[in-house]
Amino acid sequence: MTKTKMTKEIFGVKSPNKECTDAKCPFHGQISVKKELFKGKVVKKDINGSATIEWFRPYFVPKYERYEVRRSRMRVHNPQCVDAQIGQEVTVARSRPLSKTKNHIILGIVESEAKKQ
Ligand SMILES: [Zn+2]
Repeated sequence: MTKTKMTKEIFGVKSPNKECTDAKCPFHGQISVKKELFKGKVVKKDINGSATIEWFRPYFVPKYERYEVRRSRMRVHNPQCVDAQIGQEVTVARSRPLSKTKNHIILGIVESEAKKQ
């Protein structure tokens, strides 16, 4: 596969309007992603192209026969062209390890149903 071609859509997420020179960008760079998708909210962001996302999941506690809320967090790559901001819902996909803590890349921002209407 030629690497120069720009990818328009990955797993139903359309490429951002912006161009970028990020090598770790799944749309414009030379990196591929696997179909292992996660959704979460951006809680931290830095200038080096990294972000932290979190989401909550119910966890069943057999002793009390009830669910408790557990939090999952993940360090992800935030490509220049996506540039997700704190508070936004994003979709991330698995890639090769990008650094010690990053194995996933943000594909795009999830637009909430309320905003679309
Ligand atoms: Zn890009």
